[in-house]
Amino acid sequence: MYSWQNPEDRISIMQMNSELRHAELELLSAHCATYQLRLRFSMEDLARFGQRDVLRKSVEAANALSEYYTSIEKKIPEGEAVAETVIRLSEEQVLEAVCLVSSYLREQRDRYLPSAVPLSPELKAAMGPYFSPELLDGVRMVQLNGERVPCPAFYAEARALGFANLPEIAHMNSLTFLDVLVFNEKLTGRTLFHALVHAVQFQVLGLERYSELFVRSFVNTKLHFTVPLEAHAFSLEARFSRPEVETFSVEEQVRLWATHGRYEAMARAAHP
Ligand SMILES: [Zn+2]
Repeated sequence: MYSWQNPEDRISIMQMNSELRHAELELLSAHCATYQLRLRFSMEDLARFGQRDVLRKSVEAANALSEYYTSIEKKIPEGEAVAETVIRLSEEQVLEAVCLVSSYLREQRDRYLPSAVPLSPELKAAMGPYFSPELLDGVRMVQLNGERVPCPAFYAEARALGFANLPEIAHMNSLTFLDVLVFNEKLTGRTLFHALVHAVQFQVLGLERYSELFVRSFVNTKLHFTVPLEAHAFSLEARFSRPEVETFSVEEQVRLWATHGRYEAMARAAHP
């Protein structure tokens, strides 16, 4: 079984959740197609005039899925009802949290920018297959030596509200503050890639939207690693670090997720 403590497992959990989310979206579209059938035709007509093999395959697929998900449901630890994992915040509190997060990100950007440097030509070349030249030219980076990015001042308040699993900023490899990448740990290809994915997310979504998606999904999941913005960065990072060479545009992937509402999938799922 996976463990949150093991960094390799965290990547696997991320991949698992990104595939789970993909399956959920597919199920949703199957649900919609079936709903259309229900609206338009009677069950009797479907049973009588529906093409035999198609009908049979649909019934089998639906039964198999139902059996599978019901078995998983039975294994969900007792007492972990959705109501208990979700901290109820009023809309006003959520908006307040969004403001706190976005001003924190902006302040940190301004704080680190003066000591930040452009990416070296070597790093730009290494990241060239995945990111646009504009992005690679535009970002700035800071390598911290020993010092670490401190936790935001509003953490105390958030803990008081019941958020026990706030992102441990000091333990993260890197932090992306809009276009400024700050490395707590020594920079590697993988950590640079991860930090750049967030820079693309900031660019595509904008600071306000990024902060809002982060806060809303964090409020619902309480786990930093399951926030879709983070889950996506981890799954792209895993793709980047596979041994077989594959080039893809991170910006395209981020735009795809943004237009399909996948960054908010989790936030929606928790509020049916
Ligand atoms: Zn991240």
